[in-house]
Amino acid sequence: MDTAVFARWIGEIAAAVRADKDRLTRLDAAIGDADHGANLERGFDAVVRALADDSPDTPGALLGLVGNTLIRRVGGASGPLYGTAFREAGKALGDARTVSTADLARALEAGLAGVRRLGGAAEGDKTMVDAIAPAVRALAEAVRDGSGQREALGAAASAALAGAEATIPMRAGKGRASYLGPRSVGHEDPGAASAALVFAALCAAEAA
Ligand code: ADP
Ligand code: MG
Ligand code: MG
Repeated sequence: MDTAVFARWIGEIAAAVRADKDRLTRLDAAIGDADHGANLERGFDAVVRALADDSPDTPGALLGLVGNTLIRRVGGASGPLYGTAFREAGKALGDARTVSTADLARALEAGLAGVRRLGGAAEGDKTMVDAIAPAVRALAEAVRDGSGQREALGAAASAALAGAEATIPMRAGKGRASYLGPRSVGHEDPGAASAALVFAALCAAEAA
């Protein structure tokens, strides 16, 4: 995968966030403050503009710019968390011009580690980690099993979606939803739902 694939990934995320903005906001209205759709729309619109102005020439530089822009432009918790994920993933890619599925798996592991470090959430805390962690695991497993790139990214996207759905019965342990205690049960976590969009967008970008 070259820089163009990563640029397509970001474009696909921005489009998916725009299309699903109201659903993300509805999910956040149930257990948060009803701004997750707007936060991500603002963030990824700013990212698309930053990439148009700057056109970074490696996947690592591109993801670094994405991360820095999200951190700067999104007020909510999700901005620094997603921003750190993209920035750490970019750092892990270094200045390589093309990225294998194995490289990407390692980079996304670094991104996940960044989210965990910053937010302190473990799996089961009903956050974006509950979608990202199984997706990253599925990707690494597919690489180990010798799956092709498309199949590996498809497995990651399916795992993210299943992980997001699995947050419904969870009680939130981190973030705004944790203030609700047991009343957070029975709702899908908005950040886990958006993380599933991020992995679906990666599949779409690779297949395009
Ligand atoms: P805010 O909660 O500040 O309004 P958003 O609504 O944009 O920010 O994002 C909320 C999402 O951020 C949650 O659904 C959850 O997935 C994620 N989140 C919040 N706190 C944490 C944390 N400590 N670790 C991981 N993810 C978190
Ligand atoms: Mg919110
Ligand atoms: Mg908020």
